[in-house]
Amino acid sequence: MRATIWGSRGSIASAGPDTVRYGGNTSCVELADGDGTILLLDAGTGLRRAGMHLRDSSVPIHILLTHLHMDHIQGLGFFRPLFEPGRELHVWGPPSTTLDLRARLTRYLSPPLFPVRIRDLDSIVELHDAPSGPWQIGPFTVTAASVVHPGPTLGYRVSAGGATLAYLPDHEPALGGLAGGPAWTSGHDLAAGADLLLHDAQYSDAEYAERVGWGHSSAAHAVAFAEVASVRRLALFHHDPDHDDERLDGLLAEARGIGRGVDVIAGCEDTSFELSGGG
Ligand SMILES: [Zn+2]
Ligand SMILES: [Zn+2]
Repeated sequence: MRATIWGSRGSIASAGPDTVRYGGNTSCVELADGDGTILLLDAGTGLRRAGMHLRDSSVPIHILLTHLHMDHIQGLGFFRPLFEPGRELHVWGPPSTTLDLRARLTRYLSPPLFPVRIRDLDSIVELHDAPSGPWQIGPFTVTAASVVHPGPTLGYRVSAGGATLAYLPDHEPALGGLAGGPAWTSGHDLAAGADLLLHDAQYSDAEYAERVGWGHSSAAHAVAFAEVASVRRLALFHHDPDHDDERLDGLLAEARGIGRGVDVIAGCEDTSFELSGGG
């Protein structure tokens, strides 16, 4: 399974010399595993660039949305395959008890916020609530579960070819613990034993202390969560837009200093990972 990060910010960061290594686009990760099926995790602004290289219009594209905060859907309107006649797209998202996925996405993909409505697109777009149990998309076995973050929000676990990736870009597991006991119950089963975990690491410890309950994690919390879940490798993700390359280098170094059993890396735009089980 090959994973490519097209965007890893929590909000758009201005492109400039201070953000060039980590990138400025918001959440989008592409997964491929050889049979042609394309799976995209979230539709942040990184989705635009993901769409630029998806030339084979016969390939079905699946977009798994964790939730509908703007930084996770903003790229949809700029995703080229959406405008390709006959292109098959499936968008999966968190169920809601109030509005279905189409109604929620239409709030963005309709005038006045966007000139085109979903129903007027040339592509064939099907919208699905993510099922409560594991399901199969081509070679990928996908599991979704609700995690601690404001509003209906999913994390995803994706396995293929013996490798597993866990994706929890917006997650505050420190709020998900049992009273008096250790935290980290939220998202645990999604991440357990994953070869690579992409996890919210938006804040420093000092910043988190000012933002408890906002739905995000400190880098130290991401490391602690990864250790409890026994993941092999942790990529710090959902970077704060105010953090430039130098600041993120510092957070990465701190995270590596406290991570004992987990390999900590940076979630940088334009990086790819080849995942294989046991390696
Ligand atoms: Zn977000
Ligand atoms: Zn969010």
